[in-house]
Amino acid sequence: MNMKTLYKGFTLIDGNGGQVQENSYFIVEDKRISKIGKVDELQNIEGIEIVDLSGKYVMPGLINSHVHITLEPVGDPFGLINSESHAKTTIRAVANLKKHLYSGTTFFRDLGAPAGLDFALRDAVNEGLIEGPQFLAAGKCITMTGGHGWSIGREADGVDELRKAAREQLKAGADLLKIMATGGVTTPGVEPGSPQLSMEEMKAAVEEAHKAGKKTASHAQGTQGIKNAILAGIDSIEHGIYLDDEAIELMIKNDVYLVPTLVAPYFIVEYGTEAGIPQYAVDKAKAVMDTHRESFAKAYKAGVKIAMGTDAGTPFNFHDGAPHELILMVKSGMSPMDAIVSSTKGSADCLGILDDYGTLESGKFADFLVLDDNPLDNLDTLFNINSVYKLGKKVI
Ligand SMILES: [Zn+2]
Repeated sequence: MNMKTLYKGFTLIDGNGGQVQENSYFIVEDKRISKIGKVDELQNIEGIEIVDLSGKYVMPGLINSHVHITLEPVGDPFGLINSESHAKTTIRAVANLKKHLYSGTTFFRDLGAPAGLDFALRDAVNEGLIEGPQFLAAGKCITMTGGHGWSIGREADGVDELRKAAREQLKAGADLLKIMATGGVTTPGVEPGSPQLSMEEMKAAVEEAHKAGKKTASHAQGTQGIKNAILAGIDSIEHGIYLDDEAIELMIKNDVYLVPTLVAPYFIVEYGTEAGIPQYAVDKAKAVMDTHRESFAKAYKAGVKIAMGTDAGTPFNFHDGAPHELILMVKSGMSPMDAIVSSTKGSADCLGILDDYGTLESGKFADFLVLDDNPLDNLDTLFNINSVYKLGKKVI
């Protein structure tokens, strides 16, 4: 028998960014929303299970566009992952999956994990072996020899080898490719501002991904590297710390998403070396933090498409901390409604899953959050979610 459940009486924030709808309802049937509207228009509800959500707010589950599920957010996550067994790392990741789901993230994208652990974890979630959000997995990030993330990545140099590295990850089961365009904060000896893989190298990897119908994301912090990645055909710029007007223009023209991850340097600076974060990472995070927020504000104003991502797994960037990113985006000039849209519809569009996820509409999967307070007035309510539903089932 097909179970139907009617949720009713709540104020709906559907993820599209329009007016909130008071006294709403939807019916969930076989994991998806089958009908949605105003309670006054409800007819024919005999035999349907009813959940009264009067006084509550309902919005789509958060979609985090930038996660490292296998990284533990300790002071030196790369030191830890490279010194322990893959078995231990996998057990940590299983625990991390729950943290995302229970704190309101119902879908995410993993942007770099060693040894195909992310593929096994993704499949285990889909098979129902373990509990967690569904997610897309990039496998090993593709980086130049000695480039950012090399210790958990696939080092590759030259156009042909980039092509090969891309094909390897796709063969292993990657849903998308992660390509390193510049240095970064958490790798010693590389500068966030300096370009790494060349435009020609990245272009070869992007071509392979696109041929296979997959998207690409680029770790890109410095201005030249960002432009190289865009000209190589990349689909999203991760971090985007040093954006100039030309980079912003290129992003708009080429329909490229920005995934700012404002919380990543924020927590490194907040916790500092006292918490065991290497000095080089703290110094670099301090150097980029203000510019990062300015770049974000400029891109937002100019109309660059923005998807929410946290870079969870970097130092003290916890796996249940997505609301921090929304709060920082708002502090940096975004409206609360746009922060919510970026974290739901925007992320779904960036990930290429908007047909099924990201908004609460008829036909979409019933991934939603029930909140006691209006997040548009009080984003802190996301730290204290009343309940989380994934594929129509109550998780907490
Ligand atoms: Zn990352």
